[in-house]
Amino acid sequence: MQEIVVDTIGALRDTHLVYAFCTACRRDTQLDLARLAAVYGGGLTLGDLRERLTCRRCGGRSREIRIVYGLPPGSNTYGRGGV
Ligand SMILES: [Zn+2]
Repeated sequence: MQEIVVDTIGALRDTHLVYAFCTACRRDTQLDLARLAAVYGGGLTLGDLRERLTCRRCGGRSREIRIVYGLPPGSNTYGRGGV
């Protein structure tokens, strides 16, 4: 079975919670995908998004930032990943 990877912010926006985690200062924050999609377009991938993020606490750039996403609590469908 082939795994289908959905990693555009437009596709994840309505179904997943997406967080950015800064490994440098251990800050994490939930991303507002609706706002990001309005700015960058829904076709932006999480990898591309990561390149554009800067940590608001320590100023860390994409090298320090990990993006993780998962289904909202209560969902009974497995799905989790990150870049
Ligand atoms: Zn940071």
